[in-house]
Amino acid sequence: MSARTIFEQGRKGRRAFVCPELDVPDRPREELLPSKLRRREPAVLPEVSEPEIVRHYVRLSKKNFDLDSGFYPLGSCTMKHNPRLHERVAGLPGYARLHPLQRPAAAQGALELMWRLEGALGEIAGLPYVSLQPSAGSHGELAGVLLTRAYHEANGQRGTKVLTPDTAHGTNPATVTMAGYEVVKIATDEAGGVDIDDLRAKADEDVACLMLTNPNTLGLFDRNIEEIAAIVHGIGAILYYDGANLNAVMGRTRPGDMGFDIVHFNLHKTFTQPHGGGGPGAGPIAVSERIEPFLMTPRVRRGEDGEFDLDYDKPASIGRLRGFQGNFGTFVRTYAYICSLGAEGLREASEVAVLNANYLLARLGEMGLLERLPLAYGELCGHEFVLSGAPMKRDLGIRTLDLAKRLLDFGIHPPTVYFPLLVDEALLIEPTETETKETLDEFVEAIAAILAEAEEDPEIARTAPHTTPVRRLDEAGAARNPIIRQEVTR
Ligand SMILES: *Cc1c(COP(=O)(O)O)cnc(C)c1O
Repeated sequence: MSARTIFEQGRKGRRAFVCPELDVPDRPREELLPSKLRRREPAVLPEVSEPEIVRHYVRLSKKNFDLDSGFYPLGSCTMKHNPRLHERVAGLPGYARLHPLQRPAAAQGALELMWRLEGALGEIAGLPYVSLQPSAGSHGELAGVLLTRAYHEANGQRGTKVLTPDTAHGTNPATVTMAGYEVVKIATDEAGGVDIDDLRAKADEDVACLMLTNPNTLGLFDRNIEEIAAIVHGIGAILYYDGANLNAVMGRTRPGDMGFDIVHFNLHKTFTQPHGGGGPGAGPIAVSERIEPFLMTPRVRRGEDGEFDLDYDKPASIGRLRGFQGNFGTFVRTYAYICSLGAEGLREASEVAVLNANYLLARLGEMGLLERLPLAYGELCGHEFVLSGAPMKRDLGIRTLDLAKRLLDFGIHPPTVYFPLLVDEALLIEPTETETKETLDEFVEAIAAILAEAEEDPEIARTAPHTTPVRRLDEAGAARNPIIRQEVTR
């Protein structure tokens, strides 16, 4: 029964919803949509009762692993708890039911929220000019690279290359390529930071920008950041901050103070939003004064009379990056988060995120587990850390992938695996600040149990998971030969 698709359920004519009787004059279909735009045959849609549709989706949801049912230490993704208060606020009809084409005069509350959120994010970044438009971190990156180009063109110069460290998240080089620049990789030094000599060697007049995240994807804060900024600014290039790792430093330091010119935020990571499965997210950017003239339009403006409006009059702007103003529900949740924590609370959130990661690392060490899963770089970490599964693979015959899959049987979502690429058999672990000490201890015990069990019988991990609705999947096959169309017959 549970294997049936929604199309295989129900009966012709069955409905989950009864429309109220029409109380306006009906209009012929032809008037509503010309026949050349309509299908010849009506679409085949599921015809189901409300209990059928509710059960169908609840059943599907139970097949997924989710943050509300278990620990989710997916490194770099910041899967922190989503406070229910935010959902309540985002669901207020004045926000949730607002039409995106509403006149600004009739959407003053929404515009004020955006304006206040821009102010708060600008303060957190240490860069005062904010656009909320981008829909994801990668979209913010694209905005940043397009702004970089607009800035250079306005100044009569134009690099062809963008530098990124070899630890960078995959979206960084992808964005750079998409924006028409050449990606140049910068090596990582022994301490896990930017290799300054390599940076100097590659920093020439063809470089438009350096994209960096700090702490980087190894979870390490690069102490040379001021020197890096000086090198980049010395050649007239822009320094871009990938803000996905802001959760380690929010309220403690600001990208603007480190010398960055452009920053994106991942509201769905640092500022709590239910995310995964494609969204909705938001990747606002904050920029310095020299970049401001090029920011996307429209901008939210507050007039002298206190009225809010949308300002399209920015002649140097790169224009729009998407329809309407952005994923508005994410703005409401983020604003609720910032207001409910306050400046102190935001700082504490990042402090506890760093504390939790270091506690987890220390516990793994205390239990002797770092012998099989050594820390790839450094001794302490920021809000996340990278282990290498290479000794485990060599000594126990199980790979990082096997360990990750076996964790599912313990009710724990696997950490990020095989990223960053420069670490062999990498495991990138990010516990976030919202997990309790007990949960962190359970994670360490699960790792210990899996390694002990693999000493006896590595086959258990190699064939895991054993308790999930689906077992080991052919992930490469699913990505390379996706079957995304279902033949529907009635
Ligand atoms: C998640 C992430 C991104 C991309 O953000 P999206 O919102 O997923 O597009 C970029 N850089 C790093 C380090 C990330 O963790």
